[in-house]
Amino acid sequence: MNQVFNFSSGPAMLPAEVLRRAEQELVNWRGLGTSVMEISHRSKEFIDMADESERDLRELLSIPDNYKVLFAHGGGRAQFAAVPLNLLGASRSADYIDGGYWAHSAIDEAKKYCDPRVIDIKTRIDGLRGLKPMSEWDLSPDSTYVHYCPNETIDGVAIDEMPAFADRTVVADYSSTLLSRPIDVSRYGVIYAGAQKNIGPAGLTLIIVREDLIGSARQELPSILDYQVLAKHDSMFNTPPTFAWYLSGLVFKWLLAQGGLVEMGKRNQAKADYLYNAIDQSDFYRNDVAPANRSRMNVPFLLADETLNALFLEESLAAGLHALKGHRVVGGMRASIYNAMPLAGVQALVDFMQDFARRHG
Ligand code: PMP
Repeated sequence: MNQVFNFSSGPAMLPAEVLRRAEQELVNWRGLGTSVMEISHRSKEFIDMADESERDLRELLSIPDNYKVLFAHGGGRAQFAAVPLNLLGASRSADYIDGGYWAHSAIDEAKKYCDPRVIDIKTRIDGLRGLKPMSEWDLSPDSTYVHYCPNETIDGVAIDEMPAFADRTVVADYSSTLLSRPIDVSRYGVIYAGAQKNIGPAGLTLIIVREDLIGSARQELPSILDYQVLAKHDSMFNTPPTFAWYLSGLVFKWLLAQGGLVEMGKRNQAKADYLYNAIDQSDFYRNDVAPANRSRMNVPFLLADETLNALFLEESLAAGLHALKGHRVVGGMRASIYNAMPLAGVQALVDFMQDFARRHG
């Protein structure tokens, strides 16, 4: 079989080396004669692995000591509820930045628990879809926290600035960009991310939370969403998603071996530049996001002649380029190019796109 490059937005491609290692040790993990899936999360071997994975993650992201790292269930969507329920206490006011589909989904969920003050930052820049810079975010003076999504997986827009809002608690949904480049964790109160893009398989959710924010949860909060309960039990209050945790741990080791997030940031920039340049230089394809807000993870693009969409998808699949169909909200195509996608995959995509344009242009 020819090499396949998988552009799925999530669950997404995992590093080939990680999959090979998991394959090798699948039925006999750490000499136990059994797989990691079949042992207790309270066994010494699993707890050692869990500790190691947390150490590696802390190293990758330079997570300060006053932050807890939680390995949870529930994905990004569970955090849409967990964030207000953990942070608001008796307050009902939180600022929610609306920059796209996922930020908006977080707002819809938050409405059940508080009165989110919605700050719509979507704008047009030279006729292209863009987002207002942080300096123009009209935050309210008394909100308990500010929630935003730095990378909109569907819209293909990103906010790369690091927040600097003095004493405000900033909460960010990093689901589709955590571990793709260095970030300054100390700027945030809470960072959360479902694993199934840059981190590992679906099932695991990472939460990085500043310690002083833990402990003001509302009484009715289900225990499995309670940061205090999760922290107190080292993320093992209930049975954690053990296989997803283990595999994410292998991804952390792979990332460290690649040179960490500085190196990943460079590679991801190079991949994105390569693809956007090819789109910009063509009359056949276009991306309608303002350059300052273009996502380095999810690249939506449209064909000038939309009647060719089905053929593009059929031929790209046959060429080993999988999962390029855009989300129904945006239409067209979308190439998700997370950490595990090599530059060679992006080059193969661009070669295909140019060839397709020559044949059908
Ligand atoms: N936030 C973002 C930015 C996402 O991309 C997604 C999923 N694609 C979610 C939240 C929802 O995540 P989950 O399906 O893990 O609940």
